[in-house]
Amino acid sequence: MKIADVRATTVTVPLEAPLRHANGCHWGRFVRTIVEVETDTGIVGLGEMGGGGESAEAVFRALKGTLKGHDPARIEEMRFRVANPTASLYNNRTQALAALEFACLDILGQAWGVPVSEILGGRLRDRVPFASYCFFRYPDARTGRGEVRTIEQIIANARDLKARYGFTTHKMKAGVFPQDYELEAYTALAAEFPGDRVRFDPNAVWSTEEAIRFGQAIEGLRNDYLEDPVYGLHGMRRTREKVRVPLATNTVVVNFEQLAANTLDTAVDVILLDTTFWGGIRACVKAAGVCETFQTGVAVHSSGELGIQLATMLHLGAVIPNLSFAADAHYHHLTGDIIDGGLMRYEGGAIRVPESPGLGVKLNREKLREYAELYRELGNYPYDQDPLRPGWAPLVPNDRWADPADDRCPSMA
Ligand SMILES: [Mg+2]
Repeated sequence: MKIADVRATTVTVPLEAPLRHANGCHWGRFVRTIVEVETDTGIVGLGEMGGGGESAEAVFRALKGTLKGHDPARIEEMRFRVANPTASLYNNRTQALAALEFACLDILGQAWGVPVSEILGGRLRDRVPFASYCFFRYPDARTGRGEVRTIEQIIANARDLKARYGFTTHKMKAGVFPQDYELEAYTALAAEFPGDRVRFDPNAVWSTEEAIRFGQAIEGLRNDYLEDPVYGLHGMRRTREKVRVPLATNTVVVNFEQLAANTLDTAVDVILLDTTFWGGIRACVKAAGVCETFQTGVAVHSSGELGIQLATMLHLGAVIPNLSFAADAHYHHLTGDIIDGGLMRYEGGAIRVPESPGLGVKLNREKLREYAELYRELGNYPYDQDPLRPGWAPLVPNDRWADPADDRCPSMA
């Protein structure tokens, strides 16, 4: 079996409302590039990567010559062809490699008649639990609804997510407003669901001293962990010395070099594995193995997925024994998907691991066309800009906070 064609299509899928984060905002939609790898036997494998738009499509167009004729079973060979670690210093193709790895695993699963989880060692669990992932949100420009800014709105949104999807773990995404306001919000969230678990992620916007202050203030809550309170392994290590809450990261341990550094001199307790950032599902399984050996925690990170990447997260979550936390997903903030059957469903806060051959999801061509058309209409959006604060950029550590009293609704044009 050989790779005969590689196609990439960029799509944009609307969100229920714009999601705010420490560096700006998802402007009411996600932009994702869907990759199709077709073999000479007619099997089509699916991949997905984030951001980039046309530039992501150009990467796959450029790689087509390299990949044509390659055996999709030779995934490790493909790693060195596409993202050799020293060459990748210059071309930064790790995320493209991840999308191609997803597609090759999907092809192999279909060719061999087994789900991807079977290729990766076999399922240890049939369902992967997820956290609610509560964001501060701007109102949706079309409806004026969906705002999450006040403490009452935060609680109402979390209650709604729990009622709709059954979550028993709540992640608060923050780093938007002054620390005292976010501390009040997080404490209120934890108090609202005393039997549930909570986690907090300010996206590394604080100084080490602010991280220590916040960490100590939340020690009595049912925290899974405090995620990236500060940017850098040394700041995390200094925080960890003074705070009795596990620290997690998807920022400063995102490759094997950094994992080695963290293993030799621990700064982070829980490594959030992202099938895109690490360069594929297999890289995450490998990293989980290192963490298992050194008894470092792992969880599954979300970088803003549609159904194809969600499937990779489910297969990953199914096969790693040391998954001791609910996974993260932005998925329930979407209003649609490009896979057959529409959005995958949550049952009791978890999603079933697909059991059909390959990744277990199929492209819905009509939806792909519809969302590709929407992308052509709306284009990319600046992920690191706030639509209501033109010219603003956060510092690291930040002191340029949004105002919790600002109730304007941005236009997302
Ligand atoms: Mg994070």
